[in-house]
Amino acid sequence: MEFKIEQSDRLKQLPPYLFLEIDRAKREAQRQGRDIIDLGIGDPDQPTPQFIIDKLYEAAKDRANHRYALDAGLAILRESIARWYKKRFGVDLNPDNEILPLIGSKEGIAHFPLAILNRGDYSLIPDPCYPPYKGSTIFAGGKVYLMPLLSKNGFLPELKKIRNTVLKRAKIIFVNYPNNPTSAIATDEFYKELIEFAIRNNIIVVSDLAYSEICFDGYKPRSLLEFEGARECVIEFHSLSKTFNMTGWRIGWACGNTNFVSLLGKVKSNIDSGVFQAIQVTGTTALEADDTHVNSMIAMYQERRDILAQGLKSLGFNIRLPRATFYLWSKIPRRFGKSIDFAKILLSKADIVATPGVGFGKYGEGYIRFALTVSAQRIREAVERLKTRMTTNIRGN
Ligand SMILES: *Cc1c(COP(=O)(O)O)cnc(C)c1O
Repeated sequence: MEFKIEQSDRLKQLPPYLFLEIDRAKREAQRQGRDIIDLGIGDPDQPTPQFIIDKLYEAAKDRANHRYALDAGLAILRESIARWYKKRFGVDLNPDNEILPLIGSKEGIAHFPLAILNRGDYSLIPDPCYPPYKGSTIFAGGKVYLMPLLSKNGFLPELKKIRNTVLKRAKIIFVNYPNNPTSAIATDEFYKELIEFAIRNNIIVVSDLAYSEICFDGYKPRSLLEFEGARECVIEFHSLSKTFNMTGWRIGWACGNTNFVSLLGKVKSNIDSGVFQAIQVTGTTALEADDTHVNSMIAMYQERRDILAQGLKSLGFNIRLPRATFYLWSKIPRRFGKSIDFAKILLSKADIVATPGVGFGKYGEGYIRFALTVSAQRIREAVERLKTRMTTNIRGN
């Protein structure tokens, strides 16, 4: 007899993975020894700052850190997070019941719907978006309702357009500003409208704040928790990943409404056993540091942004200079067709990898995302390649 197992219905329901062909083409190009400039990866290229690594050496030697972590996370980490929120946003959080350390914020975002959704309940999900919002909703048996993020609305969802029948069964709305992939930012008016909408309709706001520290030209993103009424309806997710180049370390947190935070904790206590304590201890060191690292990181991404934006503009791309995140979200000149086709042309003609917008959802079609996660010199080279190898194509003359 043949042993046969099929994947679960749950897995079958996930949105298709659209990058197979491009991944394959990229690996093939690398195998051929071509010099690929990879602007596809949403992962900082710079190392974790040395003072953080040094602290980990020390914390890793402490035997007290070798055992299972507490479900609630270390008190010293929760206290550091509270101090950081106060300093950065002026928001008071109670470290005992309004903060929960996570194994990276993706982990918490992925588990939260399990605490809230029943079969058939909706999550309201921006499109394009960070893929785990959809996946986590589907895993929890929920239904995905797409809120298109359109250029004409500054890539903010139109809450008024959501049908009443959907609102009645909606339990969660995801927002992510500064936004991946569009690099859009939220206005205060939008945040006020969002909280009012959430309270009126009994919907929990999941705010993903992963990019709050990567911001330019004097702009400082706000926490949704700064706004009146937020404590009733908001859980906010944050992370050391992007701010301190610590994506591989896996440390983040959820904060806000104590009920939501504790429900997430209940799910997690049945699934994982917390963040390695040495990493929690080290996280406090990162959060207590002065602004030296963050300021130089901002200056670095800003230089890269300016080089790429100027280069793309000179080639006729329609670019809006982002005020936050390390992405450029660009409309694709129409003659190139679909975003996947354009990504293939970029790779084959210019040896440049970028992410086709449709990979983030159907409303991302027509766009391409460039990540500023290579050096300024490599970005200059990428611009040069676009000029020399693709100009006629892009300008269409
Ligand atoms: C990178 C990123 C995160 C952070 O994920 P971690 O799990 O904390 O590393 C969260 N949300 C978005 C939109 C991101 O791009």
